Amino acid sequence: MHNWLSQEIVEVLEAVWTNEERGNADAAELCAVAMTDVTEELLATCERDGYVTRHNGEVKLTPLGRQTAGEIIRRHRLAERLVVDVLGMTLEESEADACEFEHLLAPNVTDAICTLLGHPRFCPHNHPIPEGACCRQTEERVNSLVTSLDRLNVGEQAQVAYVSADNFPRIQKLFALGLAPGVPVKVHQKTPSYVIQCDETQIALERDIARNIYVWRRAINGAA
Ligand SMILES: [Zn+2]
Ligand SMILES: [Zn+2]
Repeated sequence: MHNWLSQEIVEVLEAVWTNEERGNADAAELCAVAMTDVTEELLATCERDGYVTRHNGEVKLTPLGRQTAGEIIRRHRLAERLVVDVLGMTLEESEADACEFEHLLAPNVTDAICTLLGHPRFCPHNHPIPEGACCRQTEERVNSLVTSLDRLNVGEQAQVAYVSADNFPRIQKLFALGLAPGVPVKVHQKTPSYVIQCDETQIALERDIARNIYVWRRAINGAA
């Protein structure tokens, strides 16, 4: 476990991960993405402890560094989802500093929260959330509170939690139709085509779009 890691080292590992995500290993770029001052001393400590390698001005995660950083990034991004989807706040409203998000989730409840949220693939900034063991188990998580729209039954009501965003124009189109986070939806029919009721409007969707809309099952008394 990495519980004993200093916050500074955690920040460095997060920065190296983020840098690598952007296809970049340039040490000079680290300061731009890090929440802390990435000093030579900090990098040397990370190298000595086996988390990174340094070569020709490049900093890369070792397998240990990748595993450690991946767990932290996962908690960080799941915590962001939790704040937005379950607490219904914007990240700014939550008043947590960007470097504090991973502390909102205890390591031993991370997979439970991931399951609760329906194993989201992206954080609210649209950065990928590293998979956990829970995500790799058989995908059908029966009573997960958050599930994709295509798994609802006809007549079932839910509220849009988030839209998995890998196609912005499509999503903007859905938002324009009123299908945005927080909006109550009801499945009208599933065959021959997928039709949902969203407030007063009926919207026909392709199934693969319905699969990318995540909803939150809860009683919506009186609404819609
Ligand atoms: Zn994020
Ligand atoms: Zn998961």
